[in-house]
Amino acid sequence: TIIAVPRETRKGERRVAMVPSLAGKLVKAGVTLRIQSGAGQSAGFDDEAFSQLDGVEVESDVDRLWAEADLVFCVRRPEDKRLQEMKSGAGLVGFLAPWERDDFIRALAEKQLSAYAVERIPRISRAQSMDALSSQAAVAGYKSVLIAAEHLPRFFPMLTTAAGTIRPAKALVVGAGVAGLQAIATARRLGARVEAFDVRSAVAEQVESLGAKFVDTGVKAEAEGGYARELTQEEKDQQAAVLAKHVAQADIVITTAAIPGRAAPRIITEAMVKDMKAGAVLVDLAAETGGNCELTRSGEVHREGAVTVVGPEDVPGMLAEHASEMYARNLWNFVSPCIKDGTLSWDMDDQVYAQSVVTHAGEIHFPAEDKS
Ligand code: NAD
Repeated sequence: TIIAVPRETRKGERRVAMVPSLAGKLVKAGVTLRIQSGAGQSAGFDDEAFSQLDGVEVESDVDRLWAEADLVFCVRRPEDKRLQEMKSGAGLVGFLAPWERDDFIRALAEKQLSAYAVERIPRISRAQSMDALSSQAAVAGYKSVLIAAEHLPRFFPMLTTAAGTIRPAKALVVGAGVAGLQAIATARRLGARVEAFDVRSAVAEQVESLGAKFVDTGVKAEAEGGYARELTQEEKDQQAAVLAKHVAQADIVITTAAIPGRAAPRIITEAMVKDMKAGAVLVDLAAETGGNCELTRSGEVHREGAVTVVGPEDVPGMLAEHASEMYARNLWNFVSPCIKDGTLSWDMDDQVYAQSVVTHAGEIHFPAEDKS
């Protein structure tokens, strides 16, 4: 079995789907790993780091890489033309975002490819080690606080110095899922006073265990599978009324709210930003899916009066080395149970594969109702 790892082609993508420390495990499992020359460069892994491992080949002919692969590991959906070059029956695993492109899914099926979208790996305890959404969200949550710190003209921690006493910064984290909890922990480590809120009241305890205060807006919107549902207009108004005061007092606001398969919920209004303290910073981690703040501009940093609004894109890639390492480990944990004596065979009776498969043996398994 040949597992191939191409260089990512999407603009701005710095991660790579395999790292040297995990490559050795694949080789031990009996597969040949082929990595495109330069694939790890932007994440800090040069060709040498791979080529010195027995059983790992560095391939400079990208057409050959795709044509001979039995399985391709990628971070983002590859270019369409690459599917045409693949062997019929070969596999593809990555962040395929199948809800975005019907024609891509059809092309996968026509080529009889076995394609798996890591976003759809079930969030059951057994599959936690494969959960790429969580590993990358944790990276983004951490980094969001560092981005805020860089733009804030103030300290995070309390300081008592000969030049006076500095009061600790106040941070507000909106959405306490995987990214939000990591943002809370990071802001606490830097010494800020942290408040957080979420529509899932179950997270209150987790927020408090990180030393932050849970803001209760009285709105509860927990949906199936531990996710949030969209709020009614009445609930939105209620939430906004409570939240406005907390936003106005914050030095840093980090927003991470998401609803699976939908545009990001709009939570921070223009009026709330106008009421923020001079010098305050808002980092909107939902920028790429429409933003939690009305004023966010995706991929930009801009000023609204005296407030800095940051809409970062590709945040996990800003920590490309560790993001790649965690992602590569997720992929290893996903694929290794299906490799026996160097041969790959997908176990379709297993919920992990049955749920994450997008196409297999010419059939589309991605349910139409998920294409919202
Ligand atoms: P997510 O990225 O889908 O959303 C981020 C957070 O935004 C969520 O906590 C959500 O409740 C919140 N949110 C949505 N609308 C909001 C609003 N209007 N106002 C405030 N907050 C809002 O979430 P996630 O980090 O992917 O986690 C989703 C769920 O999956 C959680 O219950 C989490 O514990 C669970 N999870 C389970 C596992 C596992 O068991 N393997 C792994 C990871 C996550």
